[in-house]
Amino acid sequence: MSQAEGPPESGRGRPALNRTTSNTSPPSKSDTSSVGVATPSCWDGGVTVPAHPDCVRCRYAGLIFPDGRRCCYYHATEADERLVDELDARAPGIGLVRDGRGDWGCTFGWPYGPNLYMATRQRLLEWAEPLGLRRSLRGHACRAWLTTGRRCYGACRTDDQVAGWPVAPGTASDLNPMPLSWPDHISTWTRDGEPAVIVAQPYHLDDVDYAHLGVIAADPAVRLEALPPGRSWYGARTYFLAVWRA
Ligand SMILES: [Zn+2]
Ligand SMILES: [Zn+2]
Repeated sequence: MSQAEGPPESGRGRPALNRTTSNTSPPSKSDTSSVGVATPSCWDGGVTVPAHPDCVRCRYAGLIFPDGRRCCYYHATEADERLVDELDARAPGIGLVRDGRGDWGCTFGWPYGPNLYMATRQRLLEWAEPLGLRRSLRGHACRAWLTTGRRCYGACRTDDQVAGWPVAPGTASDLNPMPLSWPDHISTWTRDGEPAVIVAQPYHLDDVDYAHLGVIAADPAVRLEALPPGRSWYGARTYFLAVWRA
């Protein structure tokens, strides 16, 4: 999945499972009309098991807990609720805002991955909190935003640039207009109100990616942090690439 495609809107179209709802009975098995499949298509977190096999919300719309259970609000344990509450309480500290949908565990704008997986949510907080980072929803993942905080009006994505850094002539073509794999699972972060870092967590890096990352690493305006799979907060098989404002 490339950044251009964006994450699926996993929460859209689902009925609100608001904590304040008066209907606390489990949904019936036939209530599948508006429950969407919310699992990220490229997730590598392993097999997940519905907490309640007969519950369509557990199967398709539940949160996924570190032990692999996929569980809806109606079937959550007290420990599940405590974990969700604890992580939600930390969300404003990293700049997340309530988006108003009200689904259990989805009231804050968690990035793709942490929106569903509690283990990923924990890792994101453990990464962002000590760094003093806040998620920027207005951040545009390119050199102009990162180094100046200003909009670039699309100048960063042309035939000879990706994210504002040059690519070799001929890298992109009509058949492959987005030839790089590194700008995947992108998020943008600020610190003290200023753009601080663009994070990408891709599954694959090809020769053209390494060449482009070399160009970025040579830019004195930024500092590239690149970690191998296993060190990212997104997933066990994704690289962690952070382009910091120098
Ligand atoms: Zn359930
Ligand atoms: Zn731009």
